[in-house]
Amino acid sequence: MTVLAVDVGGTTIKGAVVGPDGRIRHSLTAPSQADEDPVKAVRTLCVQLRDDAVRLGAVPAAIGVVTPGLVDEDAGVVRYAANLNFRDVPLRALIGDDLGLPVAVGHDARAAGIAEAVAQGLDDFLLLPLGTGIAAAIVVRGVPLPGATRAAGEVGHIPVYPGGEPCSCGQKGCLEVYASAGGLTRRYARLSGRSDVDSREIATVAGTDPVARRVWDDATLALGTALATLTLTLDPARIVLGGGLADAGDLFFDPVRAALRDALAWREPPPVVRSVFGARAALLGAAVMARREAGLPVADGWGAPTGR
Ligand SMILES: [Zn+2]
Repeated sequence: MTVLAVDVGGTTIKGAVVGPDGRIRHSLTAPSQADEDPVKAVRTLCVQLRDDAVRLGAVPAAIGVVTPGLVDEDAGVVRYAANLNFRDVPLRALIGDDLGLPVAVGHDARAAGIAEAVAQGLDDFLLLPLGTGIAAAIVVRGVPLPGATRAAGEVGHIPVYPGGEPCSCGQKGCLEVYASAGGLTRRYARLSGRSDVDSREIATVAGTDPVARRVWDDATLALGTALATLTLTLDPARIVLGGGLADAGDLFFDPVRAALRDALAWREPPPVVRSVFGARAALLGAAVMARREAGLPVADGWGAPTGR
């Protein structure tokens, strides 16, 4: 049995038909702000994805849809997602009516945590995808913590440089101002006057460009400092980093690990490792949620890329 998985981001909606082995059989993308009606854009993509699956002879058993923001998984409602202008959107009911399938609705970072937990067989860990912003999945005993108000894991707004640069949230000195892919690009643009350099290029030129060096060092120190706070609070077995910055490899991981080690006096830091799925983690997490919604089994290692 296949399932449908949809990851709704601030700019793009990604959809996939996922086979029983966790392999993506077919994928689709669409802009999420189509006609300034993101709810309609999501519903349209879901219908198209179902029709594509049927055409491929892969009738789906369920669909999982994940979004950023405050998501009530039990009710299947997105309470609030600033980037999408969602307020109390009953996604489960809407998509269920459209497709006639069981629907699981989830939070993108928590879903990514579910995918990593299953793929790596991990129970207690942190997953931080470093994208436009930074939200973490805090996985305890195999389950991502939603928190009392469904706002757990908003680690992008942990203060790292008190009185530092302003954040879009209204505070100053937040982690994501310095260490998100978007934050790096913005800081580099402001300090250098060049807005055409993305976070990967900043990593590449950090050896020769002093502005890139400063922006990169501030980012890795900010992240290591925040990871020390999280390590002391939660004692994770592992910290998994994903997103474009993690693609920089040792250039990124070495200084982050060093900053974390330096900030911890009496204990060993947990291993800081790269995400198995990268940018596809939330999508695969949506597929795991869909399988569970349909009562289908999800074995340890499900969906993990082969050859690792
Ligand atoms: Zn903030």
